[in-house]
Amino acid sequence: MSINHNLQRIKSTLPDKVTLVAVSKTKPTSDLMAAYDSGQRIFGENKIQEMVDKHDVMPKDIKWHMIGHVQRNKVKYMAGFVDLIHGVDSLRLLKEINKQAEKHNRVIDCLLQIKIAKEDSKFGMDAELAEELLKSKAIEELKNIKLSGLMGMATFTDNMDQIEGEFKFLKSVFDKVSTLKGTNLDLQILSMGMSGDYPLAIECGSTMVRVGSSIFGARNYN
Ligand SMILES: *Cc1c(COP(=O)(O)O)cnc(C)c1O
Repeated sequence: MSINHNLQRIKSTLPDKVTLVAVSKTKPTSDLMAAYDSGQRIFGENKIQEMVDKHDVMPKDIKWHMIGHVQRNKVKYMAGFVDLIHGVDSLRLLKEINKQAEKHNRVIDCLLQIKIAKEDSKFGMDAELAEELLKSKAIEELKNIKLSGLMGMATFTDNMDQIEGEFKFLKSVFDKVSTLKGTNLDLQILSMGMSGDYPLAIECGSTMVRVGSSIFGARNYN
């Protein structure tokens, strides 16, 4: 199946209000260009250096989403162009994003990553801590970030009931915090769902799905 064909097939199943992030990590820019030429403009990468390299050579109307774990010392490399950072999991990281965004005279949109999976290996904040953070004074002082929603990754399992439970939990957290008001709070985005589970995520209330292998084919890490 061609990238164009895969994209059109997936897009035809998405409700209008759901945004598709094409996850292009590990893939060559020729593959990204194939997606671009079929109309895709939002791409997700999980390594900052790789995203910077691709940003340098790809068309400038692309919106780049950082979907991976972010190391604070690398924020500066993407602060000039990144459109949305999905994996924010601490106040320390938010402060660094704010500082780097200020240098570029930008406001950077961020999602708080909530830990919803059972495994320890997944990054993210406990839901209660995230709620506290969103209500805190410390957030209001960060003028160069906007908190625009939540992100989560379900457990890597074939057990769809478990995944559904995790998605529903994240949706319930989202429903609670999305009513919060603040100068840099506008929690509209619920980023959940990947190739294996995005239809279920949408049923559970996702507004943004991050789909990689179903568009670009399996990744080769060698
Ligand atoms: C790789 C990745 C995806 C996409 O995974 P696929 O199963 O290939 O769709 C989505 N979200 C995150 C955070 C990822 O790292």
